[in-house]
Amino acid sequence: ALRVRNLSRVFGERSVLVGVSFSVEAGETLAVTGPSGSGKSVLLKCLNRLIEPSGGTIEVFGTDSMHCDPVEIRRRVCLVGQVPVLFPGTVEENLAYPFSFQANRHCPRPDFGGVLEAVGLGRTYLAKDAQTLSGGEAQRVCIARALCLDPEVLLLDEPTSALDRASAGVVEETIRRLNAGGRTIVVVTHDLRQAETLGRRVMRMRDGRVEDIV
Ligand code: ATP
Ligand code: MG
Repeated sequence: ALRVRNLSRVFGERSVLVGVSFSVEAGETLAVTGPSGSGKSVLLKCLNRLIEPSGGTIEVFGTDSMHCDPVEIRRRVCLVGQVPVLFPGTVEENLAYPFSFQANRHCPRPDFGGVLEAVGLGRTYLAKDAQTLSGGEAQRVCIARALCLDPEVLLLDEPTSALDRASAGVVEETIRRLNAGGRTIVVVTHDLRQAETLGRRVMRMRDGRVEDIV
């Protein structure tokens, strides 16, 4: 589904990603771990072209990402960041937001209530004020917002690190359920137990390189 070859990224004098190669099969969850600063977030941002790689190739379900419109790649490869960011307004308005972008105008709108159910929240959440949600609920709405575009690959950057254990457990369960439903997922986590329980394989990074994949 995702084939990354020899990916690199340089910031000024610093090489933040060096010769990163790996692939993720369709329907697989790959967990990525590594020390702070090892390049995990930069890697995810390169995968959805929020950051332009300095070199290497990325293939998304047979498409050469580097020769594709970044806006299209961002629709097919959705990134959910570490801190849930929702806009003032209802949950439904937050889910509808990506469809207001010119580039997404032609995208079919899913049944938003159904997508909320997929992340373990009921339809009743549609009308709720996004600012009143708990951290775990907000994180799941952020995941739902990404799912509304029906991405081929879902990228999650430390999706539970801002949450307490109970909320983290619910989000983990959500990720497992999405994967069981066939979604291809790359999840960055500092939590080794989480990496091993969520990922079919675990990729460890160090100093911008892939240390191993087991
Ligand atoms: P953490 O586990 O703390 O989230 P990480 O592995 O996600 O760490 P990255 O955020 O990928 O680390 O950062 C890797 C390195 O790249 C860091 O040294 C960071 O300072 C550097 N870096 C990231 N973004 C930029 C940028 N826009 N400009 C310059 N340097 C950057
Ligand atoms: Mg990071």
